[in-house]
Amino acid sequence: MNRYERNLVVQINQHIEQSGNIAVISHENPDGDAVGSSLALYHYLKKSGKKCFVIMPNDYPDFLKWLPGSKDINIFKKDKSTAEKKIHDADMIFLLDFNTPDRAGKIEDLIRESKAFKVMIDHHPERLVFTDINFTDTLSSSTAELVFRFIELTGNIKLLDNNIAVCLYTGIMSDTGSFSYNSSQPETYRVLSELLKKGIDKDYIYSKVYNNYSESRLKLLGYCLDRKMVVLPEYKTAYMSLTLLEKKQYNYKRGDSEGFVNYPLSVKGVNFAAFFMENDDHVKISFRSRGKFDTNAFAFNNFDGGGHVNASGGESKLSLSDTINKFISLLPEYIS
Ligand code: 5GP
Ligand code: MN
Repeated sequence: MNRYERNLVVQINQHIEQSGNIAVISHENPDGDAVGSSLALYHYLKKSGKKCFVIMPNDYPDFLKWLPGSKDINIFKKDKSTAEKKIHDADMIFLLDFNTPDRAGKIEDLIRESKAFKVMIDHHPERLVFTDINFTDTLSSSTAELVFRFIELTGNIKLLDNNIAVCLYTGIMSDTGSFSYNSSQPETYRVLSELLKKGIDKDYIYSKVYNNYSESRLKLLGYCLDRKMVVLPEYKTAYMSLTLLEKKQYNYKRGDSEGFVNYPLSVKGVNFAAFFMENDDHVKISFRSRGKFDTNAFAFNNFDGGGHVNASGGESKLSLSDTINKFISLLPEYIS
């Protein structure tokens, strides 16, 4: 907490006070941090007496649908006219957990056209400046941790209740793989300690997020590990992929492949893992690494993506097999 951040929060507070309608927007394919941090800010702003609404470009996984306030989220893809009106009417917009406008997917143009005062709260590297204030820290575990810091700096920490704590805890837990990466800063544990003091049940939250899948999802994981995992020891790399047909065979639902990319990293000697998923018009890719290998640079340079050093994503318009071939052909250059 430094003077620079305090000063930013004073400015943000002034704009909150002057605003009648505030929109909170997060990125496409929202994850636990996107939804958790957005809902936490939503609850906080509502408790501060503000009119506020949360908008996501597309739907988020079922394992987040229990979060307090999640039913109030407007999904742009399902209800365009409400989202358009809300963004149009907003005099202030918070953009959470992303730092390039294209991550807002189909909402990008609406954000660019809006005259609202824009505040980014985010922890990703390589940001593009497109907002009025950037409350960012790339060392932070998650956007949820930054929302906690923001609330603390406003001086209104007394407004942080159990609901807000549940949302923030979910965000931090999700973005650190339950504290297995991106979680070496003591500050993260100070924040977690404050959240636990609000009486949240962390084991309940864990179960809601990680023990809440369908039977077919677990079988799909088994299939991927048994039949689809390719280990390339010479490059300390392993990858898995899923075709549209395979997804259909296992009754795939949004979020079912969440976390699959982490499994190959548990093979001894593997420190770079990728997961390729065929969609109707593109291939979605997830990258994970252990140690110094920078998946953010790899995703940014080759697959129109980004993220963090150890966890990134991207996409490809090539076919699934061409995408995988491209990936393999890049390895000699990157892994020495
Ligand atoms: P995941 O593999 O879980 O989808 O994403 C891991 C990390 O990479 C997250 O921090 C996410 O925000 C980022 N990420 C995932 N997909 C993309 C993408 O297409 N573009 C960018 N810039 N970041 C992505
Ligand atoms: Mn995040």
